[in-house]
Amino acid sequence: MLSYSGGRPVTEPVPPEGALVRQIPLGHANAFLIRGKRPVLVDTGLPGSAPKILAAIKEEGYNPWDLALIIITHTHIDHFGSAAALAGATGAPVLASAGEAEALARGESLPAKPASFLGRFMHLMIGKRAPKPELGVTPVIRVDAPYRLDMFGIDGEIVPTPGHTAGSLTVTLATGEYLVGDLVMGTFPAHRARLPVFAGDMGAVKKSIRAVAAARPAIVYTGHGGPFTGADLEALIR
Ligand SMILES: [Zn+2]
Repeated sequence: MLSYSGGRPVTEPVPPEGALVRQIPLGHANAFLIRGKRPVLVDTGLPGSAPKILAAIKEEGYNPWDLALIIITHTHIDHFGSAAALAGATGAPVLASAGEAEALARGESLPAKPASFLGRFMHLMIGKRAPKPELGVTPVIRVDAPYRLDMFGIDGEIVPTPGHTAGSLTVTLATGEYLVGDLVMGTFPAHRARLPVFAGDMGAVKKSIRAVAAARPAIVYTGHGGPFTGADLEALIR
């Protein structure tokens, strides 16, 4: 299906054959469930999101204790805010970037560096937040290089895609489904991929987008808005 945004036709992505990803819309952000023999959770939303995520796990026919792994794409509060609660409720181990593991353990949301006018505006609205130790969770698995997910029953890999934060991670599945965290966003408007409004290093963001787009993903899921086609990502760095 074609729609138009800013004069450019936008193709809605179609989940590939054998798609494994279920998007869990939380309002402020998306979390995702990868449906394997045991499910894997990607991101956890703000504090207070655990009930919605546990309900989605149940709807897919799993028990909370079936959860094999919780992946945190990056250490921003709207992605790790319910990680401690969900790790407690499910017993699942947490995987995060090695470089962001200490901040995650302290419950410290990394600084969000505004990369646009909208980013500066949102930054003012959000203000500065102190670490919240009760939200901290110690990642058992810390990655700083490509990491296969076979041991969790998933044909896929985690790859570092720095830029939004230095330790940002992308989950890539053999089905062609890619979960990129906040590498791109699509909140304004929802159906169009955009560069993130916060980025520690925009040059690195573009390099990471180029690497993801080069892999020709069938569908790209992001923390805010989306999903998108691989072509939508390519259009961002042309
Ligand atoms: Zn973020």
